[in-house]
Amino acid sequence: MFSLVMLPVASSSPRKAASSPLRFPILSLDERKLTPALGYAFSTKWLDPCESLVSILWKFGQANGLPGYIVARQLSADADPYEGVAPLAESIDIRRVCDTLLMSPKALRASLFIGAPRRRYCTIFRYCRKCVMRGYHSVLHQLETEVVCPAHQRPLETACRRCGFEAQCVLSARFLETPFRCSYCRAGYSYNVFSILKRRPMDKSERVAITRRYFERYLT
Ligand SMILES: [Zn+2]
Ligand SMILES: [Zn+2]
Repeated sequence: MFSLVMLPVASSSPRKAASSPLRFPILSLDERKLTPALGYAFSTKWLDPCESLVSILWKFGQANGLPGYIVARQLSADADPYEGVAPLAESIDIRRVCDTLLMSPKALRASLFIGAPRRRYCTIFRYCRKCVMRGYHSVLHQLETEVVCPAHQRPLETACRRCGFEAQCVLSARFLETPFRCSYCRAGYSYNVFSILKRRPMDKSERVAITRRYFERYLT
């Protein structure tokens, strides 16, 4: 279903590989920057159009069982992972994140919010329950001008339905620690908590609706 972006260096000898169990590298907990040499699973095929860096990092963290502070450290060498950084191009180290996720700078920039007046983003995390169910959060969901999800026409929500907590949309260790869940009580933001193993492609009608809205909002 998906490919590993990086696997430990394969043996050149099939016989040796067959007789030796695969050994995955152990990540040091104070590892400041993940590199492909350390080995981790990620594929840009897991991503959908106009997906925000929030859900990209949630998928990355969930797929690799990474604690939030390790994921947050991939965003900038200088930022405090517990304080976090805003998902803005000027706040994160584009090259560093591209190296980690093997994304192009263009694709990464499309997943970030823009601090421009015309496209002001909401600093409180906003989500569509149907989108979150399939592991998706869009840059469009954070635009102040959007009140419904373009794909489902459902009102965007900010509060956890269990405890009412509203999370700041800041890429901090705490926020990244709980993929697709409330970072206060850990209840899922949707009916079922997304698992990367159950990922399914976005429906064509949803893809068209999201992409059309993105063009209307960002490129006109
Ligand atoms: Zn939706
Ligand atoms: Zn909650």
